[in-house]
Formats: sequence, structure tokens, C-alpha cells
Amino acid sequence: MATLPSGVRSPASSFPLHIRILDGGMGDEIYKQLLKKESGVDANEREWSAPGLLDETNHHLVYDLHLQFLQAGRADVITTCNFSVRQQNGFSDAQVRFACDAAGRLAREAVKATAGHDSSVAMVAGSLPPLLECFRQGPVTGRLRPESEYWSMIESLAPFCDLFLGETLSSTAEAEQVLDAVQLKCPEKPCWVSFSITKTGTLYSGESASQAIGKLLSVTDDISATHRIRPSAILFNCSSPEAITIALENISHNEGCRDLLKSSRCELGVYPNRYRPVTQDWETLAQAPRGELTPERLVEFARYCAQNHGVTLIGGCCGISVEYIRALSTALKGLGSTIPSSGASSS
Ligand SMILES: [Zn+2]
Repeated sequence: MATLPSGVRSPASSFPLHIRILDGGMGDEIYKQLLKKESGVDANEREWSAPGLLDETNHHLVYDLHLQFLQAGRADVITTCNFSVRQQNGFSDAQVRFACDAAGRLAREAVKATAGHDSSVAMVAGSLPPLLECFRQGPVTGRLRPESEYWSMIESLAPFCDLFLGETLSSTAEAEQVLDAVQLKCPEKPCWVSFSITKTGTLYSGESASQAIGKLLSVTDDISATHRIRPSAILFNCSSPEAITIALENISHNEGCRDLLKSSRCELGVYPNRYRPVTQDWETLAQAPRGELTPERLVEFARYCAQNHGVTLIGGCCGISVEYIRALSTALKGLGSTIPSSGASSS
């Protein structure tokens, strides 16, 4: 489809744009609260929120933060905060199972506690993190860990979650591991996959966004791929809005890619972070959040994503607090059905 002139919108899509708001960054917020509490958390450790789950005396912090995103932020989907508890970070299988059980239960209890506040009930997404490092440039296929590591996570999260979310992934190979594990252990629940994006707009593996969509949604002659479940949403997270914009443009400029999304009824989502792009030595997370990325700027970005690229799942990752999610909810909820898409879901 030719690019529309500025200010001209495409006809409303037959694939309805219903915008759902995700929560913001749980991990770094819990980490900050643990540091304040002086609970023996090492200020240099990279496991972020792990003590929030592994130490039961901290569970109220996790529950309260979920509540804040649900009540003040009016999030439609909250994600369990077990991201950092994985064997790569030195945790045992028993600890992974304990953390996932706690993360799922705390998220579900928060949803139940807020269910009476309005007519809609929020969903719980069970987080499935990469089994290796995040933000590592280059192909990871040759270094993938056994997908059985996901089985413990899925079995522990399944009783509490409505869907699974493979997040901060670097490659389609990692996404396929997530999809295969969900297909094996809990095929009745939908699976979303979310990629982090480099500043040049590609996945960390070097694959473009449209290549990733082509690989995950195409029907091919590859038997294993043909039988693999398809993601019901593809998202981009823990990256700058600028990087995600390049990835979305790459998708919208590719007609075959837009057709695949539409025929697969696969939604697009974004939940950027508030940090500067990751450097080669991974220094980004120690940096101060971007001051100029205000809630208003995030709303502006979200509107752009919805109107120009058909994005329907919008939230925040690291550094995005409850006030940002509240601003997104206020600006975007109820607008979905009135936003004709000129992007991925248009014909
Ligand atoms: Zn993040």
C-alpha cells in the first residue's frame, strides 16, 4: 500500500482497533523499594526484583505495585514480575518455580481485588524471559539453553495467568523456544512474544521486525514451523520509543508483513522503557531515566503507534511508572474504536 499523504487516514479497518493498556516497569520499581527498605539488597546486583519474590516478607511490595497499576494506572493487562529469576542469574530450578508461583499468585490476587472497580477484569500475562542474556548483539541460536527451563516457569505460572508473554527477546529463535514450550505445556493459553530493539530498529540478532513477523507467522514447508503455535500478539519492549518507531515503520512499509498480521489476526504492541540505548558494555540500566520522556511524550508516541501502525497493546517497561500508565489510560481508553488505522491492520 502506498504511503498516505500527511493528514489523510485510510478507511477504517475491518479488524477492530481495541486498545488495551499494559502496566509499566515492575522490576526496577520493586528494586528501588527494596533498597529503601534496606533489606540487605546489594545495590550492584543485577537480579533486580528477585528478592521481592524469593523473600515472602517482601510479597506485599509486589502486590501493592500491581494494585497501583490496576487502580491508579487502570491497566488492562499486568505482567508477572519473575523476569529476573532464572538459571542464567544463578537461581535453582526450585527457586524459579517458587518465584513463578509467587509472581502468578500475587498478580492474580491483585486482579481479583480490583475486579469490582469497573466492568472489565484485567488479564494476567505470565512473563517468560530470555534464558540467556538480554541486549546481546548477534545471533543467539547456537547458544540457546534447553527450552525445558521454560517448563518450570510455565507449570508454575499457568494456574494464575491468562496468557504467556515471552519478553525482551533478542531473536526469532528465542521466540520459537517460547512458543514451543507453551505449545507443549499449556497450549490452551495464548502466547505473545516481545522483542527488544537496537537503536537502528532491528532485533538484537540483526533480524528486521518484518523478517521476524514473516518467520513467526508464515506458513512454510518446515514441518516443525507448520505445527508451531502462532503468537497472538507481537510486541516491542524495553527499548527507546525512537528505536521502536523504526521497527514499526519497517513493518508498515512491508505489504506482505501487514497482510500476514491481518490474516493471522495478530496484534501489535509496544512497551518502551525510559532509558538510553544499551551500550556494548551493558551500562544502560545504571543510567538515570530520560528526563525529557515525560508522560505527555509517551502518550504522543502511543497515539502515533495506534494511528499510524495499528498498535493495540500499549504500556511501559523499565522506568515507566504508574503516572505514565495513568496518562496512557486517560488519553487512549475508549478511543480505540474511533481510530482508523493506516498501518499494520489496514487493508
Ligand atoms: Zn524493561
